[in-house]
Amino acid sequence: MITRKISTALLLIAACIASALPYAAIAQQSKNVSPVAPRRELVEAVVREAYQKFKDDTSGKNADYIPYLAKVDSKLFGIAVVTTDNQVFAVGDVDYSFSIQSISKVFTLALAMNELGADEVFKKIGSEPTGRAFNSPIAVVDMPTHTGNPLVNAGAIATVSLVSGATADEKWNKILDFYGRVAGEKLVLIDEVYKSEAATNTGNKALSYLLAKYDRIYADPFESVDVYTKQCSVGVNTKQLARMGATLANNGVNPATGEQVIKSEDVAHILSTMAMAGLYDGSGGWAWSVGLPAKSGVGGGIVAIAPGKGAIAVFAPPLDEAGNSVKAQKVIDYVSEKLNYNLFSPSSVSLK
Ligand code: GLU
Repeated sequence: MITRKISTALLLIAACIASALPYAAIAQQSKNVSPVAPRRELVEAVVREAYQKFKDDTSGKNADYIPYLAKVDSKLFGIAVVTTDNQVFAVGDVDYSFSIQSISKVFTLALAMNELGADEVFKKIGSEPTGRAFNSPIAVVDMPTHTGNPLVNAGAIATVSLVSGATADEKWNKILDFYGRVAGEKLVLIDEVYKSEAATNTGNKALSYLLAKYDRIYADPFESVDVYTKQCSVGVNTKQLARMGATLANNGVNPATGEQVIKSEDVAHILSTMAMAGLYDGSGGWAWSVGLPAKSGVGGGIVAIAPGKGAIAVFAPPLDEAGNSVKAQKVIDYVSEKLNYNLFSPSSVSLK
């Protein structure tokens, strides 16, 4: 009798667990899917329109202060959007691997914050616009923090110096591995870019020694510049870059692998820094007209983040005077306007 009661109870428990499972799975799924991720057909159409509209735009000029960059085909053009629910929209030369350059600064910042926490990184680097060129030694002398912020060269080299590791090689491997986890696939160094930049990076070396004068670099200055030069020479294609951005948009969780790569509590700090200094001296105009945190690199890439929704990445090498890809700015402006992404607009979260 007692045995029968126990087995009936066990059956009941098993039935409860079984019936709860589909609900648990649905709850888990809906937790991962953003309620504001855009509709597939709309994004697809807008990305195609943008490609057609801007593909023949030839304004701007490749960066040439790093000799390799001057030789990259200036007609290359790719657009990719990755949403927080991992839909991928891509058109053009989206598989071409270009050097990530300054966009890397965002992700080394995220790694340093993972290791040290946001407060410590803020104390050691700061986050103020410099009002000067991204590689300005005058900013290092003039700014009370000297480092300025993690997205100008001085602040970025200091951020590299914060990453833990017994040797420069260990730090570099850690950074490369971290970028790969943010992208959801392994990334590799473009050796030719690294060699080209390492042979010409005297300005960055000077910045590192200036930082040492103010005790604002936290490891060997030249070794830090070398690791920084390598991180700028990492190859990404437009889709990989868009997924790196989507990881930020998705609160630090890579939408493809599901891994929490960046701490969720750090994401808002990272995006605020991008909004303030992501497009060099064009950051104010960008916030005014597009209203999305973004980061550009002299290799011709820009990635813009729509928090909760996704990221847009564009690659097109010719740059404007400020060092931002001309076509990438136009495309992101167009796409984010059509998708109503401007963060500063209440209508972007459906408030009429
Ligand atoms: N590696 C480049 C430099 O240090 C990065 C510049 C950039 O993309 O803004 O000059």
